[in-house]
Amino acid sequence: MSVVELSEDEAEELAESLCGIVSDYPMDDPRVTLQGCADRLAAGPGGPERDGLVIILNATAWYAASGRIGASEVLQDMAAALGAALATLDPDACDGGHPHVDSASWDLGSAVSVGAQLLTEKGRRLYDPDEHELPLEAWRCPKALAALATEAVEALSDRLRKMRGEGITDGLDERYVAPDGRVDVPLLARTAHAKWQNPDASPAAGLWAAHRIVSGTADTPEDRLGLLLSLALCVSAWYDGLVDPYLPAMEAAIATIDLTPGETDCPHGDTPHPWSTTQHRDRLSAVTALFGPKAPSAEWFALWSCPRNLSDLADECLTSFKNWRTMRMCD
Ligand SMILES: [Zn+2]
Ligand SMILES: [Zn+2]
Repeated sequence: MSVVELSEDEAEELAESLCGIVSDYPMDDPRVTLQGCADRLAAGPGGPERDGLVIILNATAWYAASGRIGASEVLQDMAAALGAALATLDPDACDGGHPHVDSASWDLGSAVSVGAQLLTEKGRRLYDPDEHELPLEAWRCPKALAALATEAVEALSDRLRKMRGEGITDGLDERYVAPDGRVDVPLLARTAHAKWQNPDASPAAGLWAAHRIVSGTADTPEDRLGLLLSLALCVSAWYDGLVDPYLPAMEAAIATIDLTPGETDCPHGDTPHPWSTTQHRDRLSAVTALFGPKAPSAEWFALWSCPRNLSDLADECLTSFKNWRTMRMCD
């Protein structure tokens, strides 16, 4: 596939979009911009645009790998295109007789601007070494570019491994299931809720709960309630959103709740149900008390387990998931 060279205006427009991304204020959808760059590089990994695109994709890899983008396809395509470009770069072709651009010290805005400038023949011709205090070959040396491509592939692959959920719930059965086979709900709920104190264990606990809910592992109705409440505590703690692998697993778990409980099924009449009437800040203590050593009354437990209570909980989670999908650019 041949790539049609960008016009000067298009290259300038791309530079502006990329500057918005690296300053964390994207003007338009960053997925479209980054996908476009990945596609161009994939179409001509050893072509005239290679050098500029490797610089661009390195400078934007931190953004793509930061969790701001929940759609893994963009990251996959960026990594694959960089890998293809890497195969065309021979680091040994460098005699070391010139400076090399270095991502540890460059200014991201300048890097993407130079990257976009190098996409056109005219831009390459008009490169001004004084403006960037580096000769053109510092940006175009295969050794420097191979290092940039490798670095970006590693960052993107690391994020993709996380998004596949590798290793996240390893060992958690031992942690959250007591020797008698019952779920340790207070520990699970506290961990799932503790976003600030434990930003890794909190979503891992939510993910573990979600998997256990979906798998229908022989849990008692009490344990299932404890899993759902812990999951919902996790969801409300992460108001700024979670992406793969958390979001789809949590959506699947909440989908096991009946969203249309018949009014006649509920014996509580006008009694308010506790999930929606408990203040956010009081929910964790309400849940740990429910599963604490002092067993609550059967009536109280029935009120928490009531399908109407659970459908309130599910509604709230579904609203969060919808917001997460928008905030974290998942679809
Ligand atoms: Zn060199
Ligand atoms: Zn009820």
